Amino acid sequence: MNVPALNGIDGEQVRRNMFAPDFREEPYWWMAAMPEEFDNTSAGCLPANADVVIVGAGITGTVAAIHLARAGLDVVVLDSQRIGEGAARRNAGFIGRTLKRSVGWLTKHAGREHAVAVYRELDRALKGVESFVREEVIDCFHTSCGRFVGANSEAHLRGLVDDLEETRQALGFDYQIIQPDDVRSEIASDHYHGGAVIPDLGSIHPGLYHKGLVDRAENAGVRFYGRTTVNAINPQSGTHSVRTSAGQVVAKHVVITTNGYTSPDLKWHARRVIPFSGFILATEELPKDLIDKVLPKRRTYLDTKMNIDFIRPAPDSSRILFGGMTGTKSRSALPLAAPLHARLVDILPDLKGVRLSRAWTGFCAGTFDFMPHIGRNANVHFALGYNFAGIPIGTHFGTLLANRILERDDAKSVFETDRFPTFPFYRGNPWFVPMAMRYFDWHDRRIARE
Ligand SMILES: Cc1cc2nc3c(=O)[nH]c(=O)nc-3n(C[C@H](O)[C@H](O)[C@H](O)COP(=O)(O)OP(=O)(O)OC[C@H]3O[C@@H](n4cnc5c(N)ncnc54)[C@H](O)[C@@H]3O)c2cc1C
Repeated sequence: MNVPALNGIDGEQVRRNMFAPDFREEPYWWMAAMPEEFDNTSAGCLPANADVVIVGAGITGTVAAIHLARAGLDVVVLDSQRIGEGAARRNAGFIGRTLKRSVGWLTKHAGREHAVAVYRELDRALKGVESFVREEVIDCFHTSCGRFVGANSEAHLRGLVDDLEETRQALGFDYQIIQPDDVRSEIASDHYHGGAVIPDLGSIHPGLYHKGLVDRAENAGVRFYGRTTVNAINPQSGTHSVRTSAGQVVAKHVVITTNGYTSPDLKWHARRVIPFSGFILATEELPKDLIDKVLPKRRTYLDTKMNIDFIRPAPDSSRILFGGMTGTKSRSALPLAAPLHARLVDILPDLKGVRLSRAWTGFCAGTFDFMPHIGRNANVHFALGYNFAGIPIGTHFGTLLANRILERDDAKSVFETDRFPTFPFYRGNPWFVPMAMRYFDWHDRRIARE
């Protein structure tokens, strides 16, 4: 592993000080749930026909596949990578009612009724993960551990309390304010100016969750084809001809669930999602006492910035996971390991000297209106643009997509609108993301000064 010199210290020394001997640039979750090779990728082995072709084998596509196959349809899922190699097994495993637009913002711009409907559906998605995991008996460390949101300044704390109170009044969602003097009861940090705990938010082991979904889909008869890229979808007398790198399939229904990995071949969809790189580190195994000290309640932790830092304990080992610097232009997490590690130690000084065992990156998808979208274009179903909250929304939209195809009643979403905005000349190359992140940083600093 080649590590660049840092602050005058040569690369080899940086490597020894920062990386544990078992360090790998790979998602921590893959230790328990490696992406899966399905031995059916050679050209010619795709079936000629299927009732449904799903493009993208992440959470959304796999949940939709389970419901459709159980209703008796012949379902084929295609993915250009190994199954589970996308964000589904790379994310942080936070489960919340996350949306970049607050109840206050939505009320101001679209009315209170719409704001309440949006957050009711997010709440339904949050609870949907819990009930799905329970009903399907998926062993994935799902827990309602509560989330601590740390305020990055006094002004951020005022904004956080206003938001949470408005949401409580509109929807009844509970929260507790953590005064600055009490922050250390939540996290061993002097970094925050108070904060709040939202007790009903949860966490999951995303690798085991997705593996559980794939197992259940296979048991229901779904056929997965990895390393198979969909290049074009063409209408063909009431059906669709799906052209792939491994041949062609004709299907009655096609569903696009490619989120932050949407390839340029899927032109209409690629023009509407903005891929953002996310970065996460996992520490080496730590003494249990140290975790008890720094994260005594073992919640999930994030802050009030637009460009958040996030922390959680691993559910299945004594490590701590840390993420941030979202949107930085880097294909690899390695160049960001040192600045992220420094940020982690800045927040949790007790972790000074702790080494890293994993670092990885993955793509989430933003949208131009900061909202997730579900709908149909040219008779092809899609669900995309989760804006960093794809575990609950992906699970929920997967169910709705299946209900639509099965013509069941429960298929409506407040996120289905006629408008899925794009931008002139945007073709899926998000050259402006680093600039947008710098704007968010400036915006956070400006609020902090208020
Ligand atoms: C670092 C990081 C941290 C995150 N943390 C959280 C979190 O804590 N909580 C949360 O709720 N969400 C989080 N997310 C977001 C969440 O992981 C995603 O929103 C969700 O997994 C994406 O949806 P998906 O699982 O349906 O698709 P993905 O798992 O992203 O899969 C999409 C698949 O589509 C395939 N594909 C693309 N184009 C084609 C094509 N033309 N042909 C065939 N296949 C194609 C790709 O290969 C990919 O495997 C995070 C994301 C990242 C990257």
